[in-house]
Amino acid sequence: MNEPVSPFQPLPQDQPDCIVECRACTQRWTVYRQQLGLPLRCPACGSADRPVYVGTMGVGSGSQVAFSSFQTLLDDRRVLRMIETWLSLRHLGGERFVNSVGQDVPLAAIHHAIQGRAEWQGALYNVYMDRVR
Ligand SMILES: [Zn+2]
Repeated sequence: MNEPVSPFQPLPQDQPDCIVECRACTQRWTVYRQQLGLPLRCPACGSADRPVYVGTMGVGSGSQVAFSSFQTLLDDRRVLRMIETWLSLRHLGGERFVNSVGQDVPLAAIHHAIQGRAEWQGALYNVYMDRVR
């Protein structure tokens, strides 16, 4: 099922803050609001289906860390400690986190929770900028 992927040219003020999930492999990533409902290519499996919209990240502070960037921070002890402390989760390795009763918590939900709280968002952003430099 491969439809042509729609071209989309974001404006400078546009932020890819909408989280979508691949129907084929359940990979989650962020896209621009204008891309919702369009066939998009999954960064993980390459499927070009219409992904399922699962939520929108926090907006407006200018210190968001995109989901794809957040994924690259999971090898950083500071970030893992933040997630475990703030959200009372346990890291099982890779992108797997479980809550106090052992249920899996999707990474997109963790990212969303952090982006929804200014001080968490700021702390994560500081780690991200620290590594970019
Ligand atoms: Zn996929």
